[in-house]
Amino acid sequence: MSEIIVLGAGMVGVATALSLQARGHDCVIVDRSPPGRETSYGNAGIIQAEAVEPYSLPANPLLLLAMALGRKNAVRVDWLTLPAQVPALLSYWRSSMPGSLRKIIPVWRGLIEEAIPRHAALIEAAGAGNLVRENGYWEAYETEAGLAAGVLAAERRRAIYGLEFTTADRDALQREEPALKRSLAGAINWSAAWSCADPGELVGSYAALFEKRGGRIISGDAASLERSGHRWSVAGETAAAVVVSLGPWSPQLVSRFGYHVPMVRKRGYHRHYRSDETLSRPMMLSDHSVVMSPMLKGLRIASAAELSSAAPSDDPRQLLRGEAVVRTLLDIGEPVEAKPWSGTRPCLPGMLPLVCKAPRHEGLWFHFGHGHQGFTLGPVTAERLARAFDGDGSAIKGLDAALLR
Ligand SMILES: Cc1cc2nc3c(=O)[nH]c(=O)nc-3n(C[C@H](O)[C@H](O)[C@H](O)COP(=O)(O)OP(=O)(O)OC[C@H]3O[C@@H](n4cnc5c(N)ncnc54)[C@H](O)[C@@H]3O)c2cc1C
Repeated sequence: MSEIIVLGAGMVGVATALSLQARGHDCVIVDRSPPGRETSYGNAGIIQAEAVEPYSLPANPLLLLAMALGRKNAVRVDWLTLPAQVPALLSYWRSSMPGSLRKIIPVWRGLIEEAIPRHAALIEAAGAGNLVRENGYWEAYETEAGLAAGVLAAERRRAIYGLEFTTADRDALQREEPALKRSLAGAINWSAAWSCADPGELVGSYAALFEKRGGRIISGDAASLERSGHRWSVAGETAAAVVVSLGPWSPQLVSRFGYHVPMVRKRGYHRHYRSDETLSRPMMLSDHSVVMSPMLKGLRIASAAELSSAAPSDDPRQLLRGEAVVRTLLDIGEPVEAKPWSGTRPCLPGMLPLVCKAPRHEGLWFHFGHGHQGFTLGPVTAERLARAFDGDGSAIKGLDAALLR
């Protein structure tokens, strides 16, 4: 019997359990898979210190349409399942208007700015430094005009937020990344970002730290969660409190208790490729909307957003387009896996994660919806949740129950 059950052993759930444990709470994590095997495994592995503005949609409907038509490989729409997502998407679009963004960005930025220090402390305690690079990531451009526009946008962010970056022109980039077979116009290095050579393994090392400090992780299905009297029970465990951190699966579970949480489901794909010569850090190809991340298993190519709630596609077009471009840039060999991995970025329409106590159920807490940056933000919002759990409501200001119905 524990005091708190944490549902989900992704980056968000494991970090939640660690933060609660550090404050003296006795926690157990329940997951049907080992820690870090789902979305927190499959991402591009970047701890994004530079992502001080959330992923908003273009306010201009024409740009939105071009995006929806897949012109830039950034978005692919599954038209069959789109209608189910339309209400959440409309709400996301309204949140992307300048007036709303002015309120969202300060909250979001406050979270992002805590990310590196929070991970640094966990990485050190978990002895996981071998998995992490502290040398930023490239935002690369094919054309001089593209690079100039990228640098202008980066300078705007530096002026407003004080972000660090350096710029490499064609020759400098080639010197820094000798494995490139053809030259690019240049790249911005977001130098304060960190990256990870095996995101799932990093979550696994945080989970091992939780166990070393006395926590328990058990295998079970969160769908069996029940309220019995004043306690919560699931998978043979009972506790006074339960935290739902099931990433993209969270809305389904909380709907059983009468909470409707709209979610925009942005699927991404990745695959590893054997490569003898690789990159010094991840590289996002801005013109093609793919990220190449050097990982322990090979070069991971990760795709952008497929708006779909259907089963993963056997025709992951964005990934295949990305792979074709990467083959012109690097000598990559055969894919490591028989099939690409796919997972869903759990995006909430307000772009901020939900970190709060359920309004109508004692002891039920929500902690999900980290969208494009949950690998970065898990330990940050975990700490906020733990503070709120101990009575400091100011810790979750702006991340709370306003979204819930
Ligand atoms: C292609 C791609 C690239 C990305 N790149 C980045 C990046 O570079 N940087 C970044 O910060 N973020 C990135 N993200 C986003 C990030 O991966 C997610 O926001 C984050 O992993 C969400 O973590 P989570 O713990 O909420 O969810 P998950 O990691 O999915 O964890 C949820 C857990 O719940 C468990 N679960 C679900 N249902 C049940 C059930 N019924 N019973 C028991 N257990 C259950 C699952 O097994 C899983 O372990 C990317 C995402 C994608 C798809």
